[in-house]
Amino acid sequence: MRPTPFIIGSLLAVISVASAAHDHDHDDHEHEHEHGHEHESLSAHEHGVGSLNLVVDGGEVAIELVSPANNLLGFEHLPASNADKAKVKALQAQLNDADSLFVFPAAADCSVEEVELSSPLFETEDGHEHEHEHSDESAESHADIQAHFHFNCTQEAALDQIQVALFSAFPGTERLLLQAIGPKGQQGGELTATQNLIRF
Ligand SMILES: [Zn+2]
Repeated sequence: MRPTPFIIGSLLAVISVASAAHDHDHDDHEHEHEHGHEHESLSAHEHGVGSLNLVVDGGEVAIELVSPANNLLGFEHLPASNADKAKVKALQAQLNDADSLFVFPAAADCSVEEVELSSPLFETEDGHEHEHEHSDESAESHADIQAHFHFNCTQEAALDQIQVALFSAFPGTERLLLQAIGPKGQQGGELTATQNLIRF
């Protein structure tokens, strides 16, 4: 595994903080969507909404998706039944197939280098790390899924846009709050199924 350039990690950290602040700005007027379970939430987390942080540094593209598990999976409890475990495995396979989730210009010659997935829902297969948790509590808690994708593009001059195909892959995802740093600077905004193109 080649080391991730320090600059990409730093920039992702910066824009993650920026998007967390952005979430706070929306707390007041999105309150109505959250009532009922907001007080139980472990993180500021609204179903249907995720965040996408993206850095393009030359031909290197780092993308971080942070999403409520519900958006990708349809549930957030720790998988106990065989059916739920199968859904979690299928989701991991789908996220690892990153070339189908992000569409780059063919001329840029981009390929996925690395995918890292992290979620409480992905850590239960061996069973012994979570003996201290109570299953009755986990059934009520909210869980996020984080995915880091690293792509390398050999023709960086042709990398002028990225289409985000997460909406068709995961219909439970309605909006992604975007923070991106591209060749021409920083941009933010909101991606949806009909506005899923990031242009640089
Ligand atoms: Zn939730």
